[in-house]
Formats: sequence, C-alpha cells, structure tokens
Amino acid sequence: MNHFIEYLLFCRNKCSVFTLSLEIMKKENIDVLVIGAGPAGSVSASYLQLHGLNVMVVEKTCFPRFQIGESLIPRCMDNFEEAGLLECLLKQGYEKKYGARFLQDGKSGHFDFSKKYGEGWDWTWQVPRDHFDQTLIDEVMRKGVTVRFETEVIATEFIGTDSMTTVRYADGSLGEIHAKFIIDASGFGRVIAKQLGLEAPPQIAAHGSVFTQVTDLKRPKGVEGTTITFEIIEKDVWFWYIPFANGNTSIGFVGAMDWISKFKGTPAEILQQMLPSSTYYYEQFKDATYLFEPHKVENIAKNVTRLHGDGFVLTGNSAEFLDPVFSSGVSFATESGLLAAKLVIQQLNGVAVDWESDFVAYMKRGVAVFSSYVQEWYTGNLQKIILHQHPNETIKEQICAVLAGYVWDETNPFVKKHHRIIKNVAQLIAMEEGISSSK
Ligand SMILES: Cc1cc2nc3c(=O)[nH]c(=O)nc-3n(C[C@H](O)[C@H](O)[C@H](O)COP(=O)(O)OP(=O)(O)OC[C@H]3O[C@@H](n4cnc5c(N)ncnc54)[C@H](O)[C@@H]3O)c2cc1C
Repeated sequence: MNHFIEYLLFCRNKCSVFTLSLEIMKKENIDVLVIGAGPAGSVSASYLQLHGLNVMVVEKTCFPRFQIGESLIPRCMDNFEEAGLLECLLKQGYEKKYGARFLQDGKSGHFDFSKKYGEGWDWTWQVPRDHFDQTLIDEVMRKGVTVRFETEVIATEFIGTDSMTTVRYADGSLGEIHAKFIIDASGFGRVIAKQLGLEAPPQIAAHGSVFTQVTDLKRPKGVEGTTITFEIIEKDVWFWYIPFANGNTSIGFVGAMDWISKFKGTPAEILQQMLPSSTYYYEQFKDATYLFEPHKVENIAKNVTRLHGDGFVLTGNSAEFLDPVFSSGVSFATESGLLAAKLVIQQLNGVAVDWESDFVAYMKRGVAVFSSYVQEWYTGNLQKIILHQHPNETIKEQICAVLAGYVWDETNPFVKKHHRIIKNVAQLIAMEEGISSSK
C-alpha cells in the first residue's frame, strides 16, 4: 500500500499556505542515519561501519562539490586515524602544513607544529575540499557504507528515539528512512536545528567573508610559496593565503560585517576592491584569474540551543561554528563526529549514555578554549602576542599546541586558563613595549 505524506508549503510571494500530498516511494530500515557527507559525516559513518552498525549516509549534493575550510589543524589527523580514514588521505599528495604564519606591517609570527607543547601530530594538510571530501566518502563507501548522493533530507519525525526521515531523491521521488538514531552532519544545512527550532544567536561578533581559488602563476618558490599565511589587514580584518599542491591557491578576506558591507558589486568585484588592502599579496593576485565566481558569506558564526535530543545528535557545523581564523572547523567536525559515533554505538548496545556529560560538556570545553582565542584575536591581544618579536619560547609552544587543536589538554596553562591568560600576556607585552619605547 502506498504511503502519503502531507507538507505545509508556505508560498512567500503570496503569503498563502497550501498542502501537498506526495507519494513515498521507497522505505528503508537502518541503525544510524548520517545526514551529510562532509568530514563530520564521513568520520561518523566510517567509525560506525567499523563497529558493525548498519549505517547510511544521505547527501544533498552530487560530489565532488565545492566546500570552504581548506586549512586543517593537526588534531584532526588523530580523528581520521581512529575512524580508519587516514590511509586513504596519505596517498593523495596534499600540500603538507607544518605550521602557520601571521603577517602585519613588516612583522611576522611563525608557528611550527613540531615545536608545540605536549603530544600530538606535528603536521597536517592544506586541501582543496572538493577532492578531500570526495576521497573520504569514497573510502567510506569502499568500507561498505551505503551513501546516497543527491538525496536531501526534507523532514524528520521522532517517535521516542526512533525516527522516520523523509528524503527527496534526484528524480524528485520521495523515500522514507527509519533509523534508531540520527547523526546530523549537515554543516550549514543545519537540518535538525532548523526543523526543531534549535538555532541560537552566536557568541562571536558578526563576521563575513569573500573567497575564491586562483591559478597561482606568481607563487614564490620554496617554503615562502607553500606556507599558509594570515595577513592582518586591520584588527578585525584579515586575509588568507592557502596554497595547494595542485598549483592553485585559496584566497579570501574575513572581516566584521560593517567592513564587508562597505564593498558593493558582485563578489568578484568586491574581491577586486578588497585586494589592494593586502600589502603582501596584492601583486601576486591582482591579475589572477578566479577559478570560480568568488563566494560571499555573511554572519559566519552559528550556534544552537542544544546539541542532542532523543534519537539525534548534532555534529560539526550543524551544531556550532565560531570563526575561520584558527582553521578549527574540520577538527571540531571530526572530533564531534567521532565522539557521537562512539556514544551511539554504546547506546544502541544498551549501555546508558549521558549525552550532557559525555558529549556536550566535552565539546563545549574545546569550543570554549577556541572561543577565547577567537575573541582575543579580534580584541587585538592575541595578534600582539603572535607578532611579538621577542617571544618567550615556552609561551609560544603552549599557544602553538592550542593552534594545533590540542584544546583538551589541561596540563597546558594556555588551555586551562584560556579565559584570562591571553589578556594577561598581552598586557605584559604592552608594558614591556612601553618601557622599552620610553628608554
Ligand atoms: C569563510 C570560511 C572559512 C573557513 N575556513 C576553514 C578552514 O580554513 N579550516 C577549517 O577547518 N574550517 C574552515 N571553515 C569551516 C568549515 O567549512 C567547516 O567547519 C567544515 O566544512 C564542517 O564540516 P561538516 O562535516 O560539519 O560540514 P560540511 O563539510 O559542510 O558538510 C555538510 C554536508 O551536508 C550536506 N547537507 C546539507 N543539508 C542537507 C540535507 N538537507 N540533506 C542531505 N545533506 C545535506 C551538504 O551538502 C554538505 O555536503 C571555514 C568556514 C567559513 C565560512
């Protein structure tokens, strides 16, 4: 017997409401439904499959698809390794990222991940995400996970912890997926957060970004050309330079919405107007051909009122996003995707899971550390420390561990005291500079 579902569709122009009956074609039963095939979804799905669960990934787009978030940080390597996804990445020859450089007004601050406090990976990659995400999901499929591309989640209904998800396939037909648990890894799609009204105002000030990729014909030879660099244009405006192994480079500006809104025109025109503000990269990119029309995104930061509920958990950007300045997005996406998968396995095996302490508290601890660093970046305090020309090496190593993503290591004072330590060190530097300039 056919099953019908009724949708309330709101027609914006006419402000009218009508109902539409659509026929559900296909019905499937699985243990875990993962929404989205980005890094959070791939890590979750791979881990679940390795532990014997019947998992399906549904992805709205057709891969490869463009995605921003090309600069990784070392912590994500641990997550890919644990999810069984590192081997496939090691074969791809992506540009290795050994650290990061910050520039402003002739001053530079360089962080070398091999000189960081504590344990952890000394390097990671800078990657074109279309290729990277495709590599990950191909490996997930190779492991045996069913992945449905061009399959969009359009509605989810929870019955206790079980759920019935309606999806639309590429041909317009509908399907129904019955799952014992949903891992939402839908990124800025924010599927469950939107459906359940969980979206919350972000804690970080409103920023926007304009970015693209170029064929980098004037790239300097050697380390200078391959080092990821962040140029500080103004206290709350910065430019990124992310060179890839394939000769292309990602470039972009991030700034307060007030600054972004000053520029008018198409995103390509806006990027052209912004470029002269870069002292270091204007010459290299002023005539570069954009590989695609630049993207412009506004109000980047995202937040939610809760990260889980009966039968679902939010991971990656579907939950929260702070700011791109420390390249933490993919690391948090994989950290939360992996932890969510571990807890779902426990729950489905009948072991009680305390989602608040085991998931929320853990994720929030890491987010709080990065949140302090992002906020102190935009106050200028962190910029002052990073560009200080006579750094204390111990402090630098401890900050480097945070920038590498090791934000749960509370033996690091720059993790444990994140609320105030940046401000305090910046004040000391300001005093030191005041004393030396008055000599
Ligand atoms: C300007 C900017 C710069 C950034 N720079 C960096 C950086 O340098 N480094 C970094 O680590 N991060 C960066 N980020 C963040 C990064 O983009 C994200 O953190 C990362 O992609 C999150 O991964 P994810 O797996 O959560 O989601 P995504 O990678 O976004 O994947 C989600 C997937 O879900 C799919 N989806 C959405 N809706 C549905 C639906 N209804 N049904 C089915 N599928 C759906 C989408 O098509 C998508 O493929 C940046 C972000 C911005 C805005």
